Formats: sequence, C-alpha cells, structure tokens
Amino acid sequence: MVNHLCVEELTTEESRMYRSLARQFTEGLIFPVRQQIDDDKDHHKIVDPIVKQIMRDFGLANIMLDEESPIRSMVNGCAMLEEIARGDSGIAVALGCAAWCLVPIWYEPYKRPDLMKEFEAIYKEAELPLGCFAMTEPEGGCDIENPKMEGRKIRTRARLDGDEWVINGVKQWPTNSGASCLYCTVCTTDPDLGDEGIAVIYVPYPIKGVSFGKFENKAGMAADTNCTIYYDDVRVPKRYRAAGPGDDANLLHLTLVMGSIGSAIMSVGTAQNIFEIVTDYTTKRVVAGKPIKEHSVNACALADMAIGIETARTYILNVAYMFDRPETYGARWSEEMLAKSRIAKVYAADVSIMVANKAMEMMGSYGYTRDADVEKHWRDNKMMQQWLGGPQVGRLDIARHFCSLETL
Ligand SMILES: Cc1cc2nc3c(=O)[nH]c(=O)nc-3n(C[C@H](O)[C@H](O)[C@H](O)COP(=O)(O)OP(=O)(O)OC[C@H]3O[C@@H](n4cnc5c(N)ncnc54)[C@H](O)[C@@H]3O)c2cc1C
Repeated sequence: MVNHLCVEELTTEESRMYRSLARQFTEGLIFPVRQQIDDDKDHHKIVDPIVKQIMRDFGLANIMLDEESPIRSMVNGCAMLEEIARGDSGIAVALGCAAWCLVPIWYEPYKRPDLMKEFEAIYKEAELPLGCFAMTEPEGGCDIENPKMEGRKIRTRARLDGDEWVINGVKQWPTNSGASCLYCTVCTTDPDLGDEGIAVIYVPYPIKGVSFGKFENKAGMAADTNCTIYYDDVRVPKRYRAAGPGDDANLLHLTLVMGSIGSAIMSVGTAQNIFEIVTDYTTKRVVAGKPIKEHSVNACALADMAIGIETARTYILNVAYMFDRPETYGARWSEEMLAKSRIAKVYAADVSIMVANKAMEMMGSYGYTRDADVEKHWRDNKMMQQWLGGPQVGRLDIARHFCSLETL
C-alpha cells in the first residue's frame, strides 16, 4: 500500500505516481538483496546491477537529464528518495547524488541546456551512469559548507588558461567518488576573493590528471563509494564552469539546500521502514502474557516514533514545496531556505536515530542481528546525521537565520 502521506496541496498526482514506482522497484530489486550489500565489497554483484537497472531500464538517467524533468520538482524527488531509502539509503544516496551533481545547471537563472545536452551523452555512454558532487576536502568539509566562510577554506584551485580551466587539488569522501562519469567540483579561483572566487566546474571522467585513492571502509552506507579524488593539472573547457563569480556561490548554497532536503527525506525513509519492522515484531512477539506493543511502555515508544516520522515528513514536504516555488518563497539559495532545509535534515536525522535505537530495544537480541534489518539502518542513519556539515553546523545555519547568530 502506498501511503498518501500529506495534505493534497503538498503532493501531486505525479509525485504519488513516482512514489508508487519507486516503491515497486525498491521492493522488487532492493529488499530481496539488501542483507548482502555489506558483503558486496566490489559492488559488482549486487549494487552496480541495481543502479544500472534503475538508471537505465527504469529510465532515471533520462528523467534527470530531461529538460522538463519532473524530478526537478523537489516534492517528486522526495517521494522517490524516501521510498528508495526505505530499502537502502546507500543506494538512495548514490542515485540521489547522480542527480545532485547536475543540480547547479538545472534551474533558472542558471539553467545550462548546452551542458545538459553534452552530459547526457556522457551519462549514456558510461558503464555506470553516476555523478558526483565533490565539495569536501581533506582539510575540512564543514568550513566549505559554511556560508559565513565564503569559500575561503576551499583549497582546490581553478586557473583559467586560454579557453580551459586547469584544476589542481584534492577532494575527499564524495558519494559516488571513483564510480562516476561526471564530477561537479567545487573550486576556488582565489580563496582571498571569498564568494567571488568560488567556481563550480564540471569534470567528466575518464580524463587526464584525475586519479583516486582506495575506497573507504565505513560502518554503513556500503552501497555508496567514497574515496579521495586527486586533480593534477586537469584541463576542461571554459564552458564547464556552471555560472560565474558570485553566481557559483549561490549554486553552492543551492546544492546545500537541496542536499539537506534530500538527506532529510532519506532519514524518514529508513525510519519508516524500521517502524514497519518493529510494529510487525512487537505485534507478533508475546512477553508477560501479551504482545510487546500492548505494554504501555512500548506503545508510548511506538507513538513517539510515529510522532517523529509524521512531523518530519510533513515539514520536509513543506520545505520541498517552498523550494519548488521560488517565485513565491524567494531564491532557492537564500539564508532562509538554507535554515529551513537544515531544520528538516537535523530533525529527521535525530528522529531516524531515535527510531532505530528504540526499535532495537524493543526487538531484543533479534534487533541486533543482520536478519532484522534494523541494525543496517541504525548504522546508515548515523551517517545521514553526520554528512553535510553534521548536526552542529546544521544547527548553526538555523541559528544564523532565526537568531541572527554572528559566529562562524
Ligand atoms: C558516506 C558519505 C557520503 C558523503 N557524501 C559527500 C558528497 O556527496 N559530497 C561531498 O562533498 N562530501 C561528502 N561527504 C563528506 C561529508 O559531507 C563531510 O565529511 C562532512 O560534511 C563533515 O566534514 P568533515 O568530515 O571534514 O568534518 P570537519 O569539517 O572536520 O568537522 C568535524 C566536526 O567539527 C564540528 N564543527 C565543524 N564546524 C564547526 C563550527 N563552525 N562550529 C562548531 N562545530 C563545528 C562538527 O561537530 C563537525 O562534525 C560524505 C561523507 C560520507 C562518509
């Protein structure tokens, strides 16, 4: 059954169709194999075929690259991401970042149909049609995301040489690193220029000068590949810069807003799945003469989960609805939109962690096993709280807008 989760105005016929389709392939392709994903070290047996199937057969790559793509509606994107994360948030983030990589050239006034056309060919020819948004660096991720730092901590340099950008630097951790055919790379032309120096530049792969470190061994998010990317005198055409001085800073903030909304709804997806699992378990298992959920202490814990999931989802869709209507709610990269997207991300991540913890408690030792699937979400959820600046930087962005916080 597909839940019609919100008031009519926040969802549309179209978004309900995308939710339904995403649920179909999540239950058909991801659920049956998700317990094996942690052991699929090279990704080739399980993860890559699923990604290819969803991107190619289901047509997600075409939807992302289509000029009139319905997925550019954040409400539609949320419908799909929530359902995929219900199955596996590692696969959800891998697919989500294939789209995230293109976000800087999706929307007015920075739309770039010329680049979309060029990149469509790259995605079509690639063995694995994935994209990567490469922002974090070894010296730090939070400072690059922090709007108050105005790009002064970016160390990846872009220098114009005739009609080409020459890029030198190192990126660390990005989703789909080492597996993508396109890298949207956050650079600076000069860190002293602050926001004016930020340059968002596309780098197709393979290309001379780009190399990768080993894949990171993480606690969870096994379906996502993360490694260090080295840029050594990498040359790309001048037109591969998304916009220009000052505008690229807006685009960086836009990607943070969109990434935060996407991360938030993924947290809801995992929480929803845990809630389904724990409700089923506590209905069937009897302790002290009645089902676990009939004991008021556990009924209240289940209620807390429902409160968290429902309020998070509704708030996220509210922010996604605003994101889809800049003519009414202002620029997608505004401080207000960043603060609201951060509320969504911070709150939903906290909810999903609470839900996983409480579910494990109610499921006893079984909850701690791989068979139950809760421990998998438990490991993945922590990362959704930590990435994109983590809970601290998220809260600072919120306080900046709502309490005029001055601190960096
Ligand atoms: C699975 C996975 C997927 C990822 N995907 C991507 C991706 O697609 N693209 C990408 O670019 N990166 C990605 N990352 C990187 C991730 O977003 C960063 O690691 C994260 O934002 C934090 O950066 P950092 O690790 O450098 O921490 P640091 O910047 O070193 O910060 C460490 C901690 O310091 C504290 N802190 C930082 N700044 C402040 C402050 N101003 N005030 C108070 N406390 C502060 C916070 O507690 C923070 O968590 C991913 C990482 C993982 C593991």
